[in-house]
Amino acid sequence: MNPSTNCTTSAIEQVLNVENLTTSFRVDGAWKPVVRNVSFSVAPGETVAIVGESGSGKSVTSLSIMRLLSPDMSRIDGRISLNGRELLSLPEHEMRKVRGNEISMIFQEPMTSLNPLFTIGDQISEALLCHSDMSVKEARAETIRLLEKVRIPSAASRFDEYPHRFSGGMRQRVMIAMALASKPKLLIADEPTTALDVTIQGQILDLIKMLQEEEGTSVLFITHDMGVVAEIADRTVVMLRGEQVETGATADIFHRGKHPYTRALLSAVP
Ligand code: ADP
Ligand code: MG
Repeated sequence: MNPSTNCTTSAIEQVLNVENLTTSFRVDGAWKPVVRNVSFSVAPGETVAIVGESGSGKSVTSLSIMRLLSPDMSRIDGRISLNGRELLSLPEHEMRKVRGNEISMIFQEPMTSLNPLFTIGDQISEALLCHSDMSVKEARAETIRLLEKVRIPSAASRFDEYPHRFSGGMRQRVMIAMALASKPKLLIADEPTTALDVTIQGQILDLIKMLQEEEGTSVLFITHDMGVVAEIADRTVVMLRGEQVETGATADIFHRGKHPYTRALLSAVP
């Protein structure tokens, strides 16, 4: 199937539009493509999942969108546009603003993204102060509002606590609060629930759904788990060994997914 046949709306109406993304790494002096000709889009307020087994190129796809791969060791071809603005040709200082203001990213292990030496409140306030002209006092109040929004119990009293005092699920909530501080147009969540217990996973998915409904944020959700896809995604891209093997509305993929790999993923869903 041509992956782009599902992209019926024009690029300019999409928050994110990825066309023929091919990412290669320099390995032993030669360029080795690990993501090949991937095309998909994310519409305003939509959640799109990228699903595939470990090593299929999901994280490389998200890091390519963010342009977070070393330019010496990697090559990104194709087109990536955010609200109609082409990202691959932006100068690095402009791209830094896009990363800070327009796209936020959360990862599998929130501890690696939080600084253990600063309190949770200071880290979120810092993000707010960078992205707005708030006073320190306003940033503190807004930080508490964000912590409440992501359902941290007794948010105000936890402002001055350090990350190690929070459980894995609570740290992921803090990361989501931090990601929201810049009011991003797009949230990229790369396996944000993989390291969490099943019950906590469900709570984080509910939280992302609630935020998406309330804030209208578009979400690119990366996972290896079809059960999670069913929970969260409007549309789904299935990746296998760096290639996109299927793209469509999640319900269609579940009922009419054709590729043998998609069928295999679906057979693992309880
Ligand atoms: P996923 O997120 O789907 O588990 P990745 O996107 O991390 O997979 O990786 C896709 C492929 O790219 C894997 O084969 C991985 O080994 C390779 N890869 C990832 N990063 C690099 C890199 N910096 N240099 C060379 N190969 C890489
Ligand atoms: Mg990954």
